[in-house]
Amino acid sequence: MLDAFRTEPYSDFERVEAKVGYELGLAGVGSQLGGHAPVVIDGREVATSSASESINPAQPDQIVGTAAVADADLADRAMDAAWGAYPQWSSLPAEERAEIAHRIGDLMAARKYELAAWQTYEAGKNWTEAEADVAEAIDFCRYYAHQAVTMAEPLAIHGYPGETNESRLQAVGAGAVISPWNFPLAILVGMTVGPVAAGNTVVVKPASNTPMIGWGFIQIAAEAGVPPGVINYLPGPGPVIGDRLVDNPRTRFVNFTGSKEVGLEIARRAAVVQPGQRWLKRVYVEMGGKDALIVDETADLEQAADDVVRSAYGFQGQKCSACSRLIAVSEIYDDLLDLVIERTAALTTGPPVENHPVGPVISAAQHRSVAAEIDSGRSEADLVLGGGSVDRDGGYYLEPTIFAGVTPNARLAQHEIFGPVLSVIRAADFDDAVAIANSTEFGLTGGLHSSSRERIDRAKRDFHVGNLYINRKITGALVGVQPFGGFNMSGSNAKAGGPDYLRLFMEMKSVTERL
Ligand code: NDP
Repeated sequence: MLDAFRTEPYSDFERVEAKVGYELGLAGVGSQLGGHAPVVIDGREVATSSASESINPAQPDQIVGTAAVADADLADRAMDAAWGAYPQWSSLPAEERAEIAHRIGDLMAARKYELAAWQTYEAGKNWTEAEADVAEAIDFCRYYAHQAVTMAEPLAIHGYPGETNESRLQAVGAGAVISPWNFPLAILVGMTVGPVAAGNTVVVKPASNTPMIGWGFIQIAAEAGVPPGVINYLPGPGPVIGDRLVDNPRTRFVNFTGSKEVGLEIARRAAVVQPGQRWLKRVYVEMGGKDALIVDETADLEQAADDVVRSAYGFQGQKCSACSRLIAVSEIYDDLLDLVIERTAALTTGPPVENHPVGPVISAAQHRSVAAEIDSGRSEADLVLGGGSVDRDGGYYLEPTIFAGVTPNARLAQHEIFGPVLSVIRAADFDDAVAIANSTEFGLTGGLHSSSRERIDRAKRDFHVGNLYINRKITGALVGVQPFGGFNMSGSNAKAGGPDYLRLFMEMKSVTERL
């Protein structure tokens, strides 16, 4: 019997026990740096001829660990191992799989600060962001455990004279999980444990920037009782092993979260039926965003400014849900901009181990990419804050940056930058603001700050995003509370942490028996 689901609480790091707990986590992980994340196939570590280094983005000369570099052959072997484990795993009673999934969450909860500390070192998350990521991972395990039991129930269908009829859901098979670095534990765990709890088996390819965090999960999953072959681990370069996993004719599904460019390529490749392939691959691609927060003249501007800054700069803006566009109606535009600049300027930037509100971006490549976007933005709009790098320990720091006077069709307003950059857009009125908000190819998160009931109701209807937030920040969706996933080019709307998620990895069998 599983404990009732409730989301994992967050710590208050003003409290001494939490602060000391996190510091102990950092010290513990600090003494383990330099370990190795191997390929794991069928429960066994497999040697590879090469390895890559994973570094601390706040201090690139610090090696967090090394990771095996898998190749296409290992990708095939891992998929074979997943199929090898499938018959037994899928035929276990749902309750047994659910117990194991729940236990993964419980083990992670017992090591919350340690797992969070790995993110502080390897992903550059401050304490609050890192803990929230771990809490979300825990929630996914527990929530999907419950869902697995629910999904095993026979479905409600009508009776028919002279027959018995029964419809049930069953797992579809072995699939690939390809995850991003920005929620290196939560998304990897959610995309893995969902299908696995439903009876599938997987090959997990972590992002190359964060292999040690994924390796932590793999070890915990084994400790929780996940049998060999059910979750195989395959660090390595996306373009090589990702492509191979997607192309493999035995791959039954691909569960991807990442950039639009890679997601579209995966969708295209997976649509090609390979020789020997016996099904249409199921493909879920959750992709980027250009998320907007609208503030109208009836809003509490102080509250709105707080929420804009939190949404824009949490984890350096490297969230698919981050506020990258502030759309303010003309009447309050100048006042709100002043408040947002003031609050943003007060954010300190520094090492995540010291828990600054703003830390480094994930890599040298990301730093170059965001800096280039800032440079090109200078010719499009007014740079009113930031725009430069912060020089500390060689880390990949960028100043929290604000562009004002951005026009709705500018690159700054349309293209996902994925860094600490906010574009502020002036709207004539509320209707204009909604039209601007809906004018990108994305549709992931969005928000409205307003005290007008009528406008809130219109936003609920007309603001075309998968996750809409009223009078609060637009990041931080909770598992089981705010199922997460976007519209349009933001992806397949898989709705992670929602009641239908496991259904994506199941198929329905209907059986009729004449009486
Ligand atoms: P990427 O698309 O660069 O990478 C995601 C994963 O895909 C990585 O594991 C990567 O491997 C792998 N990959 C790269 N090339 C290929 C390929 N040709 N075939 C298969 N797999 C490949 O995204 P990021 O990791 O940079 O993540 C940031 C992006 O993710 C942003 O656009 C963000 O908006 C989006 N995102 C969306 C979310 C949502 O729910 N909609 C949530 C979180 C992030 P490698 O690391 O080895 O390159």
